[in-house]
Amino acid sequence: MARRTQSPYHVGTTASPPQPATAPCPKCRRPLAAAAKRCVYCGHVRILAAPGTPAYEAERAAVEADAKRLERQKVIFQHGMGLGKTALKPGLAERLRRQSLLVRIAVMAVVIPALMLVAPFKAFRLAKEVFRP
Ligand SMILES: [Zn+2]
Repeated sequence: MARRTQSPYHVGTTASPPQPATAPCPKCRRPLAAAAKRCVYCGHVRILAAPGTPAYEAERAAVEADAKRLERQKVIFQHGMGLGKTALKPGLAERLRRQSLLVRIAVMAVVIPALMLVAPFKAFRLAKEVFRP
């Protein structure tokens, strides 16, 4: 807009604009650029469109989908940091079950002996899961 035609050297010296360039974050109250959708301090997402408009609904849906995705990632991450059985094993078994028997045998031939050393019980369960009809 107007800034495009200005030299960068003039930006800091112009008179203060009629409206403040920053607006406080509704969550952490720290000043944010008025056009910033996401708070750089706490990650809170603001909806800039006017309520009731289609643009507002679209932004709200996007924000909610984003929040849900983050929540899922957090859960997966927490499980992965735990014993690992919920995060790793079903995923591997599920993926292998879609493969042909030959592929399953080839992968199991590598995975099972390795798993036997660290967690023999898990190895049996994984094999049972993968070769389940
Ligand atoms: Zn904030």
